Amino acid sequence: MAGRLLSIGECMVELMQAEGDLLRKGYAGDTFNTAYYARLFLPDDWSVDYLTAVGTDTVSDEMLAFIEKTGVGTGSIRRVEGRSPGLYMIHLKDGERSFSYWRSVSAAKTLADDAAHLRSAIEASDIVVFTGITLAILAPSAVETLLSELRRAKAAGKGVVFDPNIRARLWDDKAYMLETISAGARAASLVMPSFDDEAVHFGDTDIAATIARYRGLGVENIVVKDGPNGVTLSFGDAPLHFVPSAKVDEIVDTTSAGDSFNGAFLARYATDGDAGKAAQFAAETAAAVIQHHGALVSKDKLERSLDIEIL
Ligand code: ADP
Repeated sequence: MAGRLLSIGECMVELMQAEGDLLRKGYAGDTFNTAYYARLFLPDDWSVDYLTAVGTDTVSDEMLAFIEKTGVGTGSIRRVEGRSPGLYMIHLKDGERSFSYWRSVSAAKTLADDAAHLRSAIEASDIVVFTGITLAILAPSAVETLLSELRRAKAAGKGVVFDPNIRARLWDDKAYMLETISAGARAASLVMPSFDDEAVHFGDTDIAATIARYRGLGVENIVVKDGPNGVTLSFGDAPLHFVPSAKVDEIVDTTSAGDSFNGAFLARYATDGDAGKAAQFAAETAAAVIQHHGALVSKDKLERSLDIEIL
């Protein structure tokens, strides 16, 4: 069955330390990472598109060219005169990574300013993905525009997928953050939180509490990720289902563990509908991803790690 997955959020320019004072340029962001992995694992009759806003400058052109090269469609990306993409720099000191961000006026903050554009992109899709980071970068009125389109999509029976991906530093106000994350979940049919974030910010004492809270918000399907401890699935009326994490010999870089899990999970779940099998494949993918450097691990490296051929 052919389909289209649309991921909505911010892709940033990434500057990483190379030799000496030289910097290497890349592009990444949670929702784009998820789109990248979904594209790798979905069959050819599915399209994967990214929805964001970029500027009209050279770095915006380069970002779009990069996205297209990964096979992710850019037809739903708005161009905004006078803005540029957000940027972050990864600092490596004694093997530890830290980040600096320049994103307060990024073009992506305007991604939900045109409700008609959002509506037509969402209407043309079967699965729509967004995260707490997507909501964190938007002004309250833009959050409402986006969520009202997503609620409409959910009511129309589309798969609306939300990863709360709670990053407290992106939010000025904690009460507003929790309220907005909960509103995001209410608009979704599938929520994919990481338990450690939920415990810190919502005070959940265990995974059952996270599931109960999202159920209480009217979410039908929930996948709670818990790092090396595995994932717990709560799908409709089915009993809870636990899937252990895959074995990792040496963690090289945990960037994108959750995003790659989401992309691989959605690709498999969209095509065969078996959430347990999709979670197992996603756990193997995330385990392979964290044994390599960077957010976007190449197809060749993943094929070797997973011992599969990616068509
Ligand atoms: P996030 O990166 O979003 O915080 P998690 O830390 O929960 O998400 O990790 C996402 C997924 O990555 C987990 O569900 C698991 O499949 C995999 N994963 C993360 N850390 C490990 C690990 N140390 N060993 C094996 N798998 C891991």
